Amino acid sequence: MKQLTIIKPDDWHLHLREGIILKNIIKFSSDLFCRAIIMPNTKIPITTIDQAILYRNSIYAALPKKAKFHPLMTIYLTDNISLNDLEKGYKNNIFFAAKLYPANTTTNSSYGVKNINNIYKVFELMEKIKMPLLIHGEVNDPNVDIFDREQVFIDKELSSIIKYFPKLKIVLEHITTSYAVDFVRENNIGATITPHHLHINRNAMFFEGLNSDFYCLPVAKRESNRVSLIKAATSGEECFFLGTDSAPHLRQWKAFCGCAGIFNAPVAISSYLKIFEEENALDKFEKFASLNGPKYHNIPPNNEKITFIYEPHTIKDFIEIKDNGKVQGKIKSFHSLETLNWKLKL
Ligand SMILES: [Zn+2]
Repeated sequence: MKQLTIIKPDDWHLHLREGIILKNIIKFSSDLFCRAIIMPNTKIPITTIDQAILYRNSIYAALPKKAKFHPLMTIYLTDNISLNDLEKGYKNNIFFAAKLYPANTTTNSSYGVKNINNIYKVFELMEKIKMPLLIHGEVNDPNVDIFDREQVFIDKELSSIIKYFPKLKIVLEHITTSYAVDFVRENNIGATITPHHLHINRNAMFFEGLNSDFYCLPVAKRESNRVSLIKAATSGEECFFLGTDSAPHLRQWKAFCGCAGIFNAPVAISSYLKIFEEENALDKFEKFASLNGPKYHNIPPNNEKITFIYEPHTIKDFIEIKDNGKVQGKIKSFHSLETLNWKLKL
C-alpha cells in the first residue's frame, strides 16, 4: 500500500467559530494538525487579552480527550486597538500574532481597520517586539473590481507597510493571484495558500447557476492565477506555507445569504495531496505543510509524525452539527461527493 509519512503539519490560518460549531468541528483540525493560528473574527472580535484567554480556554475544552493540539491566538486590529494589550499579550504568549482586516472585506470584519495609516504606530511597535502581522490583503473600496482587490491592496497598502516597516514580519494570507506570488517572493515576506484556491478558479462560482459553495474571500481568480499558486505551493520555496482558511458556515446561512467561506477542515490534507500528487511533488509536501511555516515564524517543527495512505474514498456531502445528540444544522464540506485518494492512517 502506498503511504506517506511526514512531520505533523500546522495550519497557519483557521476559523474555528464558537459554541456548538466549534465543538463539532475542532476534531477535524486536531486530527491533522498540531498547531493552528486561530482567526479572531468571532462574532465579537478578539481585541483584548481577556477575550483571547476565554476563547483559547473554550477551544481547549472542546478538544477530543486525547488530542494534542495548540491554538495560537491572534488579536484583531482595529483603528483604536490598545497598544498595551497587544504588547503585553504578545510578551506573555497569549497572542501569537496580530490580524489585519481592512474593514468590511470579509466575514465579521466590520470592526476592522478603516484607515490603515491610523495604525502605523501599531506596526511600529510590532516591528520592535517582532510580533508577526497577518494580513487579509484586499482593499475595501467598493469602487475597485472585486477580482482586483488583492492586487490593489498590494500596490496601495502593502508596499507602503513594507517600505516603512522593513523588519516587520508579514504573512500575506490566502493569496489568490500570480501578482501576489511574485510580490511575496520579491519582498521576503511569507504567504499562506488554501486548498480551495489550488483547486478552483472563478468559474466554480457560476457552475450550474450561482453557487455559493465556492464563494470565499478573496474570491478565486482566473485559471492562470490558480496555476501560479500551484507552482508556488509545490515548489518547496520557504516563503509559501499551508493555511487552510477553513471557514464553516451553517447550510442555512451559506445557501440563503451566500456568506463567504469554504469549510475544508475534514479534507484539508487530502485536498492538498491531490494537487501535490498531480504535480509529481509529493516529496515537497512536508516542506509546505510542516517545515516552512515554523521556519518563517522561528519556532521548531512538531515532533509528532503523521501517516497518510493511498485509499480512494468519497467525501461526505455534509457534516452534521449536533447539540446533545440532536442535529442543529449541517455544513457543506469542500470536495463533497468527490473522490480523493489520500486518507489519514488511523
Ligand atoms: Zn480567513
